[in-house]
Amino acid sequence: MSTLKAVRGTRDLLPPETELWNFVEETARRVFARYNFGEIRTPIFEDTQLFARGVGEETDIVSKEMYTWEDRARAQSEKAQSLTLRPENTAGVVRAYIEHKLGETGLLQKLYYIGPQFRRERPQKGRYRQFWQIGAEAIGPPSAGSESPLRDAEVLEMLATFLNELGITGWRLEINSVGSATDRPRYVAALREALAPMKHLMCEDNQRRAETNPLRVLDSKDANDQEIIEKLPKIADYLDDASKAHFAAVLAALDACGVKYEVNPRLVRGLDYYTRTTFEFTHGGLGAQNALLGGGRYDGLSEAIGGPKAPGIGFAMGEDRLILTLQSQASWGQQIADEAANTVAKGPHAYIAPMSLEVAPNALELAQKLRGEEFRIEVGEPGLKIRRHFEFAEKLHAKSIVFVGENEVFGKTYSMKPLGSRANIVWNFTDFSKFVSALRGTNRNLVSGP
Ligand code: ATP
Ligand code: MG
Repeated sequence: MSTLKAVRGTRDLLPPETELWNFVEETARRVFARYNFGEIRTPIFEDTQLFARGVGEETDIVSKEMYTWEDRARAQSEKAQSLTLRPENTAGVVRAYIEHKLGETGLLQKLYYIGPQFRRERPQKGRYRQFWQIGAEAIGPPSAGSESPLRDAEVLEMLATFLNELGITGWRLEINSVGSATDRPRYVAALREALAPMKHLMCEDNQRRAETNPLRVLDSKDANDQEIIEKLPKIADYLDDASKAHFAAVLAALDACGVKYEVNPRLVRGLDYYTRTTFEFTHGGLGAQNALLGGGRYDGLSEAIGGPKAPGIGFAMGEDRLILTLQSQASWGQQIADEAANTVAKGPHAYIAPMSLEVAPNALELAQKLRGEEFRIEVGEPGLKIRRHFEFAEKLHAKSIVFVGENEVFGKTYSMKPLGSRANIVWNFTDFSKFVSALRGTNRNLVSGP
């Protein structure tokens, strides 16, 4: 039988690397809480219709990247429901907002999520079929201030703070405005007109986009087509006064907070419910998949999936790409590697060596007590030869070895030998608290912990 492997595009995250993931997630939770965001967890699968309407039929995601299947019908008369593994999380959050009538609170809802997403894409560095996103949405009725440019700027400033606190240096923020639902048709018409005499010179993909969704021609990476794309009309010239004022207000607030950005007139999103602000944070260390995150304002999304008017702004970060970026940064590596080293990589505070099967319960009881004191404890196999216990303790990078034998049990003593020091002394204690202090002393230079 052939051996089974993780499915193409999926992968296992193992310790100690998972420490990095925890570090990234803890930093997100800490930073987002300061901006008064709360966590939302939506289901991993949803009705396929949610994504068809909420992400858009004509997007790559919906047209070719979704994992979709028919559920079993509950009764013969019933039609089977089509279900889909979520390819992104904004649609789910907005569905929950509508379903739980969160708009009726009259308050802006500030929600963040952390979790896996699924897209059938060609796997490569920074691009997987199961990947993780950390994202947030600020959404609410207009009366709650959800349309204000202050929200856009606040979310962008939060992202800059998050990346800086994570220790990611050298990120770039590109920003643009795609105008309102009324600006866009005029712009798209102008694009079509400009593309009509040119498109036959462009690559096949762009010829198709010029027909179906001309906005998407703008983010084409095709080298030969760049000359034509550079000369296409710019959305900035098609914004109405309200959209121009909104954009100017976002940029002014970013300036006030010292958040650096570049306006990229080609940064667009092809979907109708995207309005005004769009942005992307990139990082040079990522190679071809250089987008750390993308986001924007989606004033029409709630209505597109049958909800009330609920303007919002949000973003989704690729957590896999945050990790890749951190790993590519030497200065960061040392700091977190040290922290991770103190937990998984450098092993437990103590390895308990039960000297026989009879004392195994006593060994477990001692382990329980020490874990209660916040020590990280590994218990060895009862009855191994002392030499074997030492071998295991060393392999695990344990910082000390604690013996539990009949002497210890009957004499009610604790025997401990620090590892990694040359001194060949076994310490004996009759007092538990002194024993605990000694274990802490053993780890004095290695942990700030217990
Ligand atoms: P890309 O241009 O990289 O395909 P996208 O426009 O599809 O990105 P969004 O749908 O806006 O991306 O998702 C936001 C972020 O999620 C991206 O900026 C990226 O960091 C991350 N992301 C998207 N798809 C993947 C994937 N298949 N694997 C890993 N991360 C991904
Ligand atoms: Mg994509």
